[in-house]
Amino acid sequence: MTSHEIRRHFLDFFRSKQHLIVASAPLVAKNDPTLMFNNSGMAQFKDFFLGNGTPPSKRVADTQKCLRVSGKHNDLEDVGFDTYHHTMFEMLGNWSFGDYFKKEAITWAWELLTEVYKLPKDRLYVSVFQGDEKDNVPFDQEAFDLWKPIVGEDRIIYGNKKDNFWEMGDTGPCGPCSEIHVDLRSPEEVAEKPGKDLVNADHPQVVEIWNLVFMQFNRKADGSLDPLPARHVDTGMGFERLCMAIQQKKSNYDTDVFSGTIHVIEELSGLKYGAGTGMADVAMRVISDHIRAVSFAIADGLVPSNSKAGYVIRRILRRAIRYGYSYLNLTEPFMTKLVPTLAMQFADVFPELNAQRDFVATVIREEEIAFLRTLGTGLGRLDQIIGDLAGKDTKEIPGETVFELNDTFGFPADLTALIAREKGLTIDEAGFQKALQEQKARSRKDATSSAGDWIELAETDKVEFVGYDQPEAYAHIVKYRKI
Ligand code: ATP
Ligand code: MG
Ligand code: MG
Ligand code: MG
Repeated sequence: MTSHEIRRHFLDFFRSKQHLIVASAPLVAKNDPTLMFNNSGMAQFKDFFLGNGTPPSKRVADTQKCLRVSGKHNDLEDVGFDTYHHTMFEMLGNWSFGDYFKKEAITWAWELLTEVYKLPKDRLYVSVFQGDEKDNVPFDQEAFDLWKPIVGEDRIIYGNKKDNFWEMGDTGPCGPCSEIHVDLRSPEEVAEKPGKDLVNADHPQVVEIWNLVFMQFNRKADGSLDPLPARHVDTGMGFERLCMAIQQKKSNYDTDVFSGTIHVIEELSGLKYGAGTGMADVAMRVISDHIRAVSFAIADGLVPSNSKAGYVIRRILRRAIRYGYSYLNLTEPFMTKLVPTLAMQFADVFPELNAQRDFVATVIREEEIAFLRTLGTGLGRLDQIIGDLAGKDTKEIPGETVFELNDTFGFPADLTALIAREKGLTIDEAGFQKALQEQKARSRKDATSSAGDWIELAETDKVEFVGYDQPEAYAHIVKYRKI
């Protein structure tokens, strides 16, 4: 089954269960001061759970572009080093706003995975919330009783509050969840150790694929729980992980979701993915991941810049450029060359990228040219600094130096930290922040000479949605568009 078919089957399945299929919200979270990027399927529906606003249907399903590179969910450092966390990924989801509850959510999830996708039942595990006396929340007996006849007691895992209880915040809607995990190891490995023991243990072939959240409580300011008058379902399934499971691959990057871009990277670098050169493989994973995040962010109206969300995108792009430069010998702009492949691949599901492919490719190329201009010299300077440290009894790069690399060569601090880590060193983050603040104070005093270099951050964390450059290209994006 191709990734296109896998996505289509998900939407068709829930359409057949009377769900309205809606479009993904943009990656940039609109009108939500608490969120920089959309990082889950439910973000665009938050108001409905809070009782503000009426959903377009009581049953909704979609695939949502998510970005987990900031705040509570930040997977950036794992990306490329593991094979199942991405910066940008698709989260398939189905929702019930005060309509069906656990019984339907559980039986449909099982039906889809085992009858439509034909995942082997003996490779699936499910978790139920074990309860937390201290925090006043009970064991999820209802989910346990529903799962037991389906999977048998020995495939049920009791999960703690961290993994199996969802809360929107300190107060408000919350509830237990059931996660579904899949064991993709070889029969020999399975015989050696039961998959159950590897759930939530960071094993690359025993991974969480679907999270079913059951919102049934309201947490009050005094910490006590009230039952919610209307109970809701919120589910999220990692599309790339699902493709890995169905296509029987060992890594998300071995699926057809990534094979197109990896192929182009192989052609550009003359190296083969999986040929055994460790860091080259990491670099190809990083690049094929980051190009998605950066391209879709730009297509959603967020260009790389020195301000908050734009700076996050610039950092992701620079991280990828440096991996290509250091490990694949790519010293000319190359990220920009991946855009057409990506745009074609997603033309039917996220047409916003294809509609603006030239614009996106140009923005990326300009960024690459600017960064590549100083990257080589900066890396040389960093090598020198690291060499100097070797003779001293510190393993920390001073904040002033991190600042200099940032200011003169355009190295974001996290990039310096990443390179430092590869050499067993750390950076003085606090010292860097201090030097940065001093620089800002200086430029504020001398606004005329430095106005173009620093963009002042807004007073609050709120990131304005900058809007689409080409509104006509977005005619298809109407909230709750029927597809
Ligand atoms: P994990 O424990 O693997 O980090 P999670 O519990 O943080 O996942 P959820 O918030 O429950 O993830 O999101 C729902 C689903 O989205 C997960 O079951 C997983 O399949 C997928 N997912 C989460 N984070 C990522 C990511 N960074 N890249 C790809 N898929 C992800
Ligand atoms: Mg996570
Ligand atoms: Mg998890
Ligand atoms: Mg989870």
